[in-house]
Amino acid sequence: MKAFDSYHIRNLAVVAHGGAGKTSLTEALLFCAGATKRLGKVDEGNTVTDYFPEEIKRKVTIHTVPASFEWNNHKLNVLDTPGYSDFVGDVIAALRVVEGLVFVVSAVAGVEVQTEVIWEMADERRLPIVAFINKMDRENANFFNVLANMRERLSRDIVPVHIPIGEAGDFCGTIDLLTGKALIYEPGSGSKPVETSIPNDYAEQVSQYQEQLAEAAAESDDDLLEKYLEGERLSPDELALGLHKGVAQGKVVPVFCGSALNNIGIGALLQSIIDLLPPPISSPEEAKSIAEKPLGALTFKTLSDPYVGRLTFFKVIEGVMRSDSLVLNSNKQTEEKVGQILVMQGKNQFPVDLLGPGDIGAVAKLQATSTGETLTSKGNQRVFEGIDFPEPNLAIAIKPKTKGDEDKLSNALAKLLEEDNTLKVEKNLETKETLLLGMGEMHLDITLERLQRKFGVEVTQSSPKVPYRETIRIPVKRVEGKHKKQTGGHGQYGHVFIDVEPLADQEFAFEETIFGGAVPKQYIPAVEKGIREALNEGILAGYPVTNIKVTLVDGSYHPVDSSEMAFKIAAALALRKALEQAKPVLLEPIANVEIRVPEQFMGDIIGDLNSKRGRILGMEPDGKMQLIRAQVPMAEMYRYAIDLKAITQGRGQFHMEFGQYEEAPSNVAEKVIEEARKAKQG
Ligand code: GDP
Repeated sequence: MKAFDSYHIRNLAVVAHGGAGKTSLTEALLFCAGATKRLGKVDEGNTVTDYFPEEIKRKVTIHTVPASFEWNNHKLNVLDTPGYSDFVGDVIAALRVVEGLVFVVSAVAGVEVQTEVIWEMADERRLPIVAFINKMDRENANFFNVLANMRERLSRDIVPVHIPIGEAGDFCGTIDLLTGKALIYEPGSGSKPVETSIPNDYAEQVSQYQEQLAEAAAESDDDLLEKYLEGERLSPDELALGLHKGVAQGKVVPVFCGSALNNIGIGALLQSIIDLLPPPISSPEEAKSIAEKPLGALTFKTLSDPYVGRLTFFKVIEGVMRSDSLVLNSNKQTEEKVGQILVMQGKNQFPVDLLGPGDIGAVAKLQATSTGETLTSKGNQRVFEGIDFPEPNLAIAIKPKTKGDEDKLSNALAKLLEEDNTLKVEKNLETKETLLLGMGEMHLDITLERLQRKFGVEVTQSSPKVPYRETIRIPVKRVEGKHKKQTGGHGQYGHVFIDVEPLADQEFAFEETIFGGAVPKQYIPAVEKGIREALNEGILAGYPVTNIKVTLVDGSYHPVDSSEMAFKIAAALALRKALEQAKPVLLEPIANVEIRVPEQFMGDIIGDLNSKRGRILGMEPDGKMQLIRAQVPMAEMYRYAIDLKAITQGRGQFHMEFGQYEEAPSNVAEKVIEEARKAKQG
């Protein structure tokens, strides 16, 4: 592939809810542009951009992969993104490096949740949008209903540039409202439509939508507006210019339509990408001066390719990236050796010597660089703003199926974390569990599948254990612990009296008020040690005991038989007895939770929080969303990512962190104690 100046590059992401046809559309764009000889099909598992086993198996896109190709003297870098909310991290990364988006909307299903979510992201980032109403060939396809649905649910001025001729089984082409020509696709005619005049019965519809188009185009440009208001007709070129401006300003969304599966309407969409979406750098002069700057590139995805190993995708922002060069990772201040630069076309890769500013490519086998980092020429300290990934909050506990695989597991997890910024691993010191946190069930499933397939580590998964604790409610005095074994040989003798009392703001305190050496000084550390160890396992359900003060008040010793060990055991005995007398209770961890949801879900969210024993602390508007603050027992929150998704159809977000421990209600405590008793009995 030859090098393109940035003015002739278009970087775009194909985005939508899962199933709208993003992968099929990307496939059709490649085919229509002549980059591939065959139109692959998602249902046959042979598309260019979905080639990972986990993608083919599920027929969903999991990884954003660029499909770069040339068309009409331009280079298009098309990022086929995932539509499933578990993989929204890859959408966010794609949005960071493109200048425009193609939204795919199904002519049958209309606007779906994830489309709305990504549309809002596009609004926040002011990204230009072109829309494609896909699946016009499907039964129940209805262009105008879907258009109305888009106008109702999405922002911006949404105006058709093409309208369909026929629908579902009768769908045979489109009318270009700019040129006033009909493009008819003969069945089986491939990508080349026949241009004809507009069928008579469409005349009225055409003039109605041409009027809307003219108005939208005029409103984006003062000169055009003046002309328009004076009643003059705008020429196709003027309309195109106005549209171009309106799209760039993020005000107008031109709508195209067709069938990705049958390669209908794709040529017009290709042309609109070049005509309506902006290049990475908007003037040729500017592009030239940016090309002369030192290198600055941003990495936006790391992937383990089955053939070349670790692949890093990057966008050159300034300067030129060259094959076989040394660069600096300015985030980490480490040198990286860049080998062969590749232009990606899904599973196919083409070697190139260099990529200029605005272009997108990949390089294999970088050592230290992860996603969202800056590669510069040596000496250039520039660091570009990274990528703001969402925080994963669905946790499972995992452990290797085979004993002894612990190291293998942690190495494999480290590798997966390098590739996936929405995955997190936590060691819970209290429950001693390894927790894997992901964006949703499918994300976690796929991660476990990859652990097995790529690293040969099989794991078992379970719900994370709740780190309960125990404490006491009343003080007790002079509780005795005596450890005495004096039969034959060297005996053992330790003897203590302790006071215990609840302690408000501290986990543990130890004091001694020994008078006259009743417990000799050298054994006192052993007493404290015995108590600390005993506190690790409470008497109710075996959880750590906290918020307790222990005072060693008295005891006795034996000049020969006493030892540190004997005093440790005596202290532990005393402590367990004291706990029993001091009204022990179970504490449960309470989380501080912040939930962001659209207003209409507030009632359901609050109802659900109540059923989870939550306390609502406050609610306030937060942009278009409502923010709810609550305190909820952790035990109820482990699957909240799933519940929230179900209640809000994926429109909600939440953040949770540990707040404090509180006494568990008796029904909860009884259950936990009973379970611990059963577990102990095996
Ligand atoms: P994505 O999840 O948005 O990438 O959607 P896919 O490209 O995977 O397509 C989802 C399903 O819709 C697949 O079964 C496709 O074959 C089908 N599909 C995609 N585009 C069309 C189309 O234009 N017409 C019809 N009839 N089916 C389509």
